[in-house]
This record gives sequence, structure tokens and C-alpha cells, in this order.
Amino acid sequence: MTLTWQVEHACPQCGAPVSGDEADQLLICPYCRVGYYIHAREAHRYYLPPKNPRHKNLFFVPYWRFKGDVYACRPFKITTHILDAGMPAASLDGVPSSLGLRPQVLKLKFLMPETPGRFLVPDIDFNQALTLMEERVNALGHFGKTETNFAGTYFGEIVSLIYAPYYIDNGILYDGVLDMYLGSTSMTAEDLEHLPVRTAREGAGVEVRFIPAICPHCGWNLEASPESLITVCHHCGVASQSTDTGLSRVAYELIPGNGQEEIYLPFWRIAVQTLGIELTSYADFVRLTNLPRVIRPEWEDLPFFFWTPAFKCHANLFLRLARNVTVAQPKSQAIDHLDGKKMGDAHINLETASESLKISLANICQAKRVLFPKLPEISLTIDQGIMVFIPFESLGRELVDRDLKLSLDRKIVGL
Ligand SMILES: [Zn+2]
Ligand SMILES: [Zn+2]
Repeated sequence: MTLTWQVEHACPQCGAPVSGDEADQLLICPYCRVGYYIHAREAHRYYLPPKNPRHKNLFFVPYWRFKGDVYACRPFKITTHILDAGMPAASLDGVPSSLGLRPQVLKLKFLMPETPGRFLVPDIDFNQALTLMEERVNALGHFGKTETNFAGTYFGEIVSLIYAPYYIDNGILYDGVLDMYLGSTSMTAEDLEHLPVRTAREGAGVEVRFIPAICPHCGWNLEASPESLITVCHHCGVASQSTDTGLSRVAYELIPGNGQEEIYLPFWRIAVQTLGIELTSYADFVRLTNLPRVIRPEWEDLPFFFWTPAFKCHANLFLRLARNVTVAQPKSQAIDHLDGKKMGDAHINLETASESLKISLANICQAKRVLFPKLPEISLTIDQGIMVFIPFESLGRELVDRDLKLSLDRKIVGL
């Protein structure tokens, strides 16, 4: 799968069909102009609508879908690549090993509790599926040898379970979307009665909430890009994120600009609890990473924070920005009003950002041969995290922060 699926559902306000991209977090109804966040606790569950939903031998087979960056600590460098793959989450004789359909034509629908159908229970979980998908890609030789991986992580942009419909008629398996012949199968209609299936209400789906994109503080409409997860209200400056109970406020700080800045971009500043290494002070960090710096006595008491971008960018840029800000440890301050400042949207939440910390440490470290073998024993968990906006000024096609030596293409943040 290399194309992105479109998702279509009914506007919770006016019922009109609204479509968006799989990775979208925020949709705006083109008819009533209401925007809303799509919120689910787990990976999104979708289904492909069958052509004949009343067929008596119809059943749905689940497929895992992942698109995102894969980071690995190989001897002795960080490798990154994009994994865009899918595989059946349950095996059944004759059922195709990929969805193999035409995403540009077919639209996914959210599996809601009221969606009718028999849904096969997955027999491999998402983490097992990820490992298998990655092994297959490696077996094809796309990404070199499978060398030791001291530490790795998957940074998912799209993680979902898609149910595709099939039916059986006289020993023949049919694709239920297209009503198309797939081939003979040893399964009979009677076997279908014994498959481990459940309904959407019994747990095949996950609860999806559509939360109006209205500032919880001042009631203003939030304006953001579709992939936005945390949005700053242009009217009152409050940042908010969707949660199980609606939109809730996200605290943030700011690094003051010099008056030339065009936009402030969001980063996460994360204090960690560690196992397997000493990493409390900035002095610890310099020793651990072997940075070419003479440790000053006051650094022993200077608390250390990891920094990561909170906006989407390609893996190498993500690592470079995380490195430069983490090494610089800039000071931020609380802010009470925006004064017309332009704030970029955040696409990455704190928990997801924290998945990158070990890789980031490995990337910054100058003594990779020493650190990498210790990585499996090291654990870094969030103690505290806060969003901090960093000022960027315009320099041709680039956005730059001269103090922190950061630069990126304007297009990356949609400018
Ligand atoms: Zn609408
Ligand atoms: Zn507001």
C-alpha cells in the first residue's frame, strides 16, 4: 500500500458526507462549516462497505495498517526509513494477504457500535504485526541487511485496523466490496458459523468521538490544519487537545523572539526518569554523550531536559532539530497573551514524542560504540513534559532560528 485512503463519514451536525485523509485529526464539514476533532482511545477501526450488505454469508476480515517512520540503532549509526504496509490480522484460507483494492475509489468508514456485520477477531496483535511487516520489507532487501538493532522505535502517522468484507457461495470466496470472484476455498458457509467473530457492539469497533473544534476557554472556532492535534486559539491564546471528555487545555511556554520572527513552532520539553543511566543534570548529559565540551561546575545542578519537535517532519530533520535544541537547552517563559503572534499547530502528542527519546540520545551521543550496547538496558520515561514554542524567522525559502541554529523548509509547516 503506498496510497493514502480517504475516510468518509456523516457530519455529526448536519449529516452531510464529509471526507478526509486517513491521517487527519480535524475535519471541517464543507456544508455547515463546523470543524471537529476525531478522537479515539485506540487505533482507528474502519471498514470497507460491502456492495451487498444483506448477503447471508458475509463476514469481515481485519487488516492492520501502518504508515510511519522506523528508527533503528544499528552498529553504529541511526537508520531511518518509512514503512507503509498492511497485513491480515487474522488468517483464513483463501483470503488475500493484502487489501489490494483501489484506495482512490473506495472510502473507509468508521466502524461504529451500530455498524452491522460479523467481524473476525484478530489473532495477532499490532506489535506482532509491525514486526512481521518490517521483516517482510527487510527480506525484500529494501533496507539492507538485518543487522543488530540495539534500540528501535516506530513512529506511526497512521495506525489502524481495516475490516474488509468477503462472502462465500458454493465453495467460492468473493470480495464483498466489488462482488468479485477470488477463487475456491475449503471453507463452507457452515464453517462461518464457527469462526471467532463479534459484532461492532461486542468490541470489534472502538468508540470514536467527534469533538467540536471550539475553544474550551472563549468559545471561538479553532482554525487549524487537518493534521493538527493541539491548536492554539487565535482569539484567546489557549491551546487545547481532544481528550475522552472533550477539548482540554494544554499548558505551554514560549522562547521570546527578537521581533523579526514570522512564526513560533511547537516543541516538547521533557524531563525524564531514567533506569540504567545517570541523566539528571546537564553535566550528566555531556558526560553520557561525550560532547566536546568542558563541563562547568554549575552544570552539575542544571536540570536536563530532552527536546523534540511537536510538528510533523521527516525523520532526519526530526532528529536534527531534537539534537540542536537538546544540546542548547534554551530557557522558556510562561506567556499570558499572544499579541498577534502566529503559532504553528502541533501534530505529535507528548506520549508519542517520548517514544523518540532513546533514539534521540543515541543520535546525539558521540561515543556510539560505548552507548549503543547499553541501550537495551536503558529506560527513559516521562516525568514531566511541557509544550514550548520556539520563534523562527524567514530567510528565503527557509525558516530559521539563529540562536539555536535551526533551519527548515517553509513548506514543512505549510507556509
Ligand atoms: Zn455539517
Ligand atoms: Zn479561545
